[in-house]
Amino acid sequence: MLFHQVHVPPVCSLCSRLCAFRDQNRAQNPLYHNAPVPAFGDLSARLLIVGLAPGLSGANATGRPFTGDDAGQVLYAALLAHGLALGDYRGHAHDGLRLMDTRITNTVRCVPPNNRPTPLEIRTCGFFLDQEIHAMPHLSVILTLGKVAYETTLKILGGNPRQTPFVHGRVVQQGPYTLIASYHTSRYNINTKRLTVEMFDAIMGTVSTSLAATPRP
Ligand code: SF4
Repeated sequence: MLFHQVHVPPVCSLCSRLCAFRDQNRAQNPLYHNAPVPAFGDLSARLLIVGLAPGLSGANATGRPFTGDDAGQVLYAALLAHGLALGDYRGHAHDGLRLMDTRITNTVRCVPPNNRPTPLEIRTCGFFLDQEIHAMPHLSVILTLGKVAYETTLKILGGNPRQTPFVHGRVVQQGPYTLIASYHTSRYNINTKRLTVEMFDAIMGTVSTSLAATPRP
């Protein structure tokens, strides 16, 4: 089914634990976004980047995926270096940064306690990710950041993570989509050197090569 827009209610209450956490955060930080974080970028893009969930003081604060915390520094620097973004990333939603042929979303759209959504929350919000994927008429490449994003996206596309488990750098052709797996650009992964800037640059090279193989219609 092709959806022409992705409608996530701004006060979606499907996940009771996350709603309670949102209310708690709203009381502590009333100026934060504290709501489901909408995707960033055009539905007409050929590239979709899927993260895990908003960071408490990152996307949950600014209302834009990967914006305001360390994970965004690495991701947006790479997008700018590879011509997939224009402007300057300044860590807030009004920095004028533009994505080129790229859209960024999360597997789970509300901030979870300790950055850990439950399997039920992942499945529940997966409904919106499914909608999003099928609302992008030119989508050809999906870059997933982290195991949860990879497995959730693969299942939505009809794949089986047991047959093709998460491996950093793995490329899976799933129907019309090229699915690329990467470690998440989180501060933890960068600090522990599980993911280096050079490793992520190589992933972005794979993304660029995959996009070049599927020219815009
Ligand atoms: S995580 Fe997704 S499904 Fe759950 S309350 Fe937030 S927007 Fe709704």
